[in-house]
Amino acid sequence: MLELLFLLLPIAAAYGWYMGHRSAKKDQEDISNKLSRDYVTGVNFLLSNQPDKAVDLFLDMLQKQEAENEIESASQFEAELTLGNLFRSRGEVDRALRIHQALDRSPNYSFEQKLLAKQQLARDFMTVGFFDRAENLYITLVDEPEFAEGALQQLAIIYQKTKEWKKAVNVAEKLAKIAPKEDNIELAHYYCEYALGLNAESKDKPIDILQQALKVAPNCVRASMLLAEAYMVRLDYQSAVKNFENILQQNAAYIGEVLPALKYCYQELNQLDNFELFLIKASQICRNSAVDLALADLIAEKDGSFAAQTKLYQQLNQNPSTFIFHRFIQYQIDNAEPGRAKDSLILLHKMVGERIKQGFDYRCINCGYQTHKLTWCCPSCRQWESIKPIRGIEHN
Ligand SMILES: [Zn+2]
Repeated sequence: MLELLFLLLPIAAAYGWYMGHRSAKKDQEDISNKLSRDYVTGVNFLLSNQPDKAVDLFLDMLQKQEAENEIESASQFEAELTLGNLFRSRGEVDRALRIHQALDRSPNYSFEQKLLAKQQLARDFMTVGFFDRAENLYITLVDEPEFAEGALQQLAIIYQKTKEWKKAVNVAEKLAKIAPKEDNIELAHYYCEYALGLNAESKDKPIDILQQALKVAPNCVRASMLLAEAYMVRLDYQSAVKNFENILQQNAAYIGEVLPALKYCYQELNQLDNFELFLIKASQICRNSAVDLALADLIAEKDGSFAAQTKLYQQLNQNPSTFIFHRFIQYQIDNAEPGRAKDSLILLHKMVGERIKQGFDYRCINCGYQTHKLTWCCPSCRQWESIKPIRGIEHN
């Protein structure tokens, strides 16, 4: 028995050495991972224009490395990674690419370190517009929990640029699962773009996709507009009316955009009285000169321009607007006797009309960008559904 114990002694010693070595190695890996996480946080501070916080964090990291006698290769890795990022921020992307590619290929670094190198390499490719190369790298990062959210966000940006809407939908759906947001407006617009890109043989598929858009973002005005238009093509005017009218609850600023189409649907249904009721309800809910003008048009058609003028006078008192004033003068001209007073009104009408023409029709409520055409993604600040009709958001 004693001899047997003597025989086992070298094995026990080897096991002890192995366990100690493993434990030390694990500690080193833990330190390395912690430092890498700190490093990512520091880079994020730099990217979000908080250089002071980034400097503090990097100084803290250096102190920790000294205190814990951190392995040399980790310091070297992070120094090289930072150097590459600095080159990129200075516009020297060729150099940044060389450094980050070398880190990614080096056999000396851990799997986690290479993921960091891949992340920065993808940013380099994004900067120079090599979206296919960036896409490949981000796809590999999607499976890594610490990198998944950022990688999916970047993939969504790539697919938006390349207009690959089905892929944009897929990544935005994954993103909504791992990082849920109150507002899924981007995903809803990807559905809209995807539905618009489908060909005529797709039958009911666009309707299914647009309904999916409303499911994830019930206030997506564009999805309701496109749904209503799809029902109009199918001559289902009742469903079209329902979807057009939903816009009043979703975002009343846009209701003016659909009034001509809504009126057409009611005419086809032979229910113009219901259109008038809707306009009265809308004018009570929101201040929108497009609604007031549509109501005046309807009154003019039914009861003549004098009745429309009286209605506009009331609306002008409640909601002073250049657009309503312009139309009000038009009705006054229609009802005026020939003479100097009428000539003056014609001149005034022309001047106000010129002023309206000089202005823009739409404005981004996020960055102030102005345009003559309704665009769903602001070309200036890249926000979805932030460009609104000025008639819907004006206050004077
Ligand atoms: Zn904007």
